Amino acid sequence: MIPIPEFFKTMLLEQYGENTVNTIIQGFNQQRPVTLRVNTIKSTKEEVIQELCKEKIAFQEVNWYQDALIIESVREEQIQRLNIYEQGKIYLQSLSSMLPPILLEPKPKQNILDMAAAPGGKTTQMAALSCNKAFITACERNKIRGEKLKYNLQKQGVASVNIMLEDARNLSDFFSFDKILLDAPCSGSGTENVFKKNFTKELIQKSSKTQEILLKKALKILKPGGEMIYSTCSILQDENEKILEKALKNSHAKLIPLKLPKEITCLPSSLKEVAVIAPNRLFEGFFIAKIRG
Ligand code: SAM
Repeated sequence: MIPIPEFFKTMLLEQYGENTVNTIIQGFNQQRPVTLRVNTIKSTKEEVIQELCKEKIAFQEVNWYQDALIIESVREEQIQRLNIYEQGKIYLQSLSSMLPPILLEPKPKQNILDMAAAPGGKTTQMAALSCNKAFITACERNKIRGEKLKYNLQKQGVASVNIMLEDARNLSDFFSFDKILLDAPCSGSGTENVFKKNFTKELIQKSSKTQEILLKKALKILKPGGEMIYSTCSILQDENEKILEKALKNSHAKLIPLKLPKEITCLPSSLKEVAVIAPNRLFEGFFIAKIRG
């Protein structure tokens, strides 16, 4: 097993206790299979399955999401060589990261903000879930990542998305959205990122500061009665529960309890309404909260 940094182990032990931390560490060391989402804007599950069968690539379906497939037998590079990939008929995406758009339930004609959008996995999924009929504004601060977002939106055949190359912390308070997805920049503490050199205490602190400002901004520009998702691929309360507590303290907005498929294992949380998805063989560690404004 690859060791995780000592400072991180201490943080996890304080938050979760020894037994849960051992399970988390085992989860980090599992190799997850390739997972993909059928892009229903351009294709159908039947067409994708047909191509996989033609290429003799075995797959499994996912009970809780008809557009997702799990592929155990080959790695991403082999999927990237397929016609269905080249033509934008599928999108490689982790199972955990498919959950925030599903839980936000984007519908045609809704005005939706994707506040930290690149490379666009969840923007394209929201477009597909709304039959390509939601009005989506995709905000991204980083220019190069913004290019990747633009490329992915085109490749996936997404219509009615307006890309905004901006720091979302500076969005005008005069905006007003029916729904917001804030898939916030984070330390990646629920993923393999924990084994990388750039995974430091400072990264966690910097992420928390940005997350708090972004969430407070989101609450300002969410319509009264509108709904939003706050998500990260971190399992640390400094980037999740604590951010929610600070942002919701002086706000009318309320957490809405999440209904997750029973196949998903969650870690304990100080907030009963949210989900902290445990890293394991199928899922990366992820945090999801739903808020009504
Ligand atoms: N939602 C994306 C997806 O599913 O493909 C992943 C988003 S990633 C977790 C966070 C993104 O937020 C990064 O592309 C990062 O460049 C961007 N970002 C960071 N700070 C930002 C800010 N202040 N305003 C807008 N975007 C920001």
